[in-house]
Amino acid sequence: MIKIGLTHQGCSNERLFREERLEPVHVKRPAMPPLEEFISCLEAIWDSRVLTNCGPFHEQFERELAEFLGVEHLALFCNGTIGLVTALQALRVAGEVITTPYSFVATTHALLWNGLTPVFVDIDPVTFSIDPKKIEEAITPRTTSILPVHTYGIPCDFEAIQRIADIYGLKVIYDAAHAFGVRDSGGSILRHGDLSVLSFHATKVFHTFEGGAIICPDAKTKQRIDYLKNFGFADEVTVVAPGINGKMNEFQAAYGVVALKHYGTWHASCSAVSHRYRELLTGVSGIRLLNVPEKLEWNYAYFPILVEDGYPLTRDDLYYKLRREGIHARRYFYPLISEFPMYRGFESAKLEHLPRAYEVSRKVLCLPMFAELPIDVVESICRLIAEG
Ligand SMILES: *Cc1c(COP(=O)(O)O)cnc(C)c1O
Repeated sequence: MIKIGLTHQGCSNERLFREERLEPVHVKRPAMPPLEEFISCLEAIWDSRVLTNCGPFHEQFERELAEFLGVEHLALFCNGTIGLVTALQALRVAGEVITTPYSFVATTHALLWNGLTPVFVDIDPVTFSIDPKKIEEAITPRTTSILPVHTYGIPCDFEAIQRIADIYGLKVIYDAAHAFGVRDSGGSILRHGDLSVLSFHATKVFHTFEGGAIICPDAKTKQRIDYLKNFGFADEVTVVAPGINGKMNEFQAAYGVVALKHYGTWHASCSAVSHRYRELLTGVSGIRLLNVPEKLEWNYAYFPILVEDGYPLTRDDLYYKLRREGIHARRYFYPLISEFPMYRGFESAKLEHLPRAYEVSRKVLCLPMFAELPIDVVESICRLIAEG
């Protein structure tokens, strides 16, 4: 068993400070700011009694987050899944939506909750995101949109996707749940497509316990999304759509304001963890690492490895070996979404149409990756992997 002394930065709970705790290492451990900083926000909320419905912290977080991300317009949400459901409503998406089987189930659950038909297309073996070359042959007269995922925060081939969307008159909604803070040479990758949806779930690189946001191109679209996330209310007596309750509350928003100030520090730690993994795992026979484009400002959200045929153990053998040592790596994404009972009846869900996604799902293992992961634990994990 690998012994880990995890430090609890800024946590005033005395129990957690006792020397070192020996505990398993999970794939994610949420970064948290010093509790005192959040308590002063709680005091303000207690005084104002504004708990939700787009109060002052909501307004502040929305503004500061847009600035931080380098986008013009965004609407905060209670979580990413409701953000996805609402994004599809906002664009009045209908019929068939082309998407990826290699993602978290929320991506396509959002389609079923809107009565839409997912059409699965295989992934690119390098980016692990939807393969644009396969999109055209999946288009039918009922196709209205494409729902790609920036898997692990690596941008999709957005130029190729947009080209197809423009030719066929399709909308593009990005599930950008992994893409917080990612920038390419043109700026935030959240600028792509018609809408992008973020998640601030506790397991993501930036979190508000639960939370999410839709990034949209103009104030008019944001207005419509803001109506939709508040039951469709445009004013006290006017309801313009069958909206949902998707509002982020003041506690989440206040936490977001505080956490955003610390994101730079956490990002630097994640970068150090990721680089150490890369140094130690490069050249280990049978282990393939994620391809990160050189000029990308990435967020180090995940550290996936592919356990290839040249490795002495199978992926699952390695997964269980690490577990026995207290290292809880995760098989993200396995099984494929298209293998679950509510999807496998669709023609496009047949595994013979999705050979690359199938192969990656059987080889992938996401190693622990979070800001407070000690470098010596990274080294121990790499030793275990290298010895086979
Ligand atoms: C986390 C995640 C979601 C869902 O976000 P929640 O905020 O947990 O509802 C959607 N899609 C992907 C790819 C995710 O990883």
